[in-house]
Amino acid sequence: MLVIKQVAELKRFLTSKQQTGSSIGFVPTMGALHNGHISLINRSIKESDLTVCSIFVNPTQFNEASDLEKYPRTLESDLELLLEAGTDLVFAPSVLEVYPKGLETAVNIDLGQLATVMEGEFRPGHFEGMMEVVNRLLDIVEPDKLFMGQKDFQQAAIVNEMLKQTKRPTKLVVCPIIRESHGLAMSSRNERLSPEDRDIAKVLSQSLQHVKANMGQKTIEQLKKEAVKLIKEAGLKPIYFEISDGDSLKPLESWEESDYIVACLAAFIGNIRLIDNEIIKFPKV
Ligand code: AMP
Repeated sequence: MLVIKQVAELKRFLTSKQQTGSSIGFVPTMGALHNGHISLINRSIKESDLTVCSIFVNPTQFNEASDLEKYPRTLESDLELLLEAGTDLVFAPSVLEVYPKGLETAVNIDLGQLATVMEGEFRPGHFEGMMEVVNRLLDIVEPDKLFMGQKDFQQAAIVNEMLKQTKRPTKLVVCPIIRESHGLAMSSRNERLSPEDRDIAKVLSQSLQHVKANMGQKTIEQLKKEAVKLIKEAGLKPIYFEISDGDSLKPLESWEESDYIVACLAAFIGNIRLIDNEIIKFPKV
């Protein structure tokens, strides 16, 4: 497994591979890797000749300095996991490599409602920062396929829209959420939870399952209320609980409005912010 820190060196290596016809799969991460990340690596290995994983804690997508500071950084164990999984190349750049002085990296596209609901409402600037880094990394890696997790449902929807609007040839592959055995979605932030809190936080996936199990039998408003109640009763602080169209992310008022429906939530447990979601109705194919 190669570990490269410089953009120029990475580009040289990848260009030589692309010239010989190798397809490139790319998994961007912020490190502190767990089995959710590794599931993306596994999928990329299955579908690509060469799998590249980036580890970069992107400062432009954090809207709170303390969150950025506290973000776990575990490069050595990350490299071990990636090696074991069979990753070909790890790109672990510095902030200056990704954002060299004088290079314009901001992405100016209109995402409309996609970026203003849910995470967009509560984390101003987050998606602009996320698009900036993904777009910059795509410029560098030029992958055939980009592998991202459904765990960040809104992020995947926005990247999909960005790929469309910027007319990139890269195909986005959205991979299922990997959960702990009791249901909590795996997340680098779980590392900061005590064992008791990890157990309590399973209420998040339970609230999503409650909505899925009762879909169509109760109103959307009623189920949102019940989900929020479950979360509060477990001692967490809900930030939002939304039932939305899976494409536009428009909040729904009735089940008939869409045939592709997702429930998304964010909540604090202590001072740790967790997100989760569940597709509760799939579009007919
Ligand atoms: P992050 O390092 O948190 O930026 O995540 C990097 C990628 O891993 C993103 O595409 C996430 O959606 C994905 N990811 C994070 N957690 C999970 C999970 N539990 N299951 C599947 N994918 C995940």
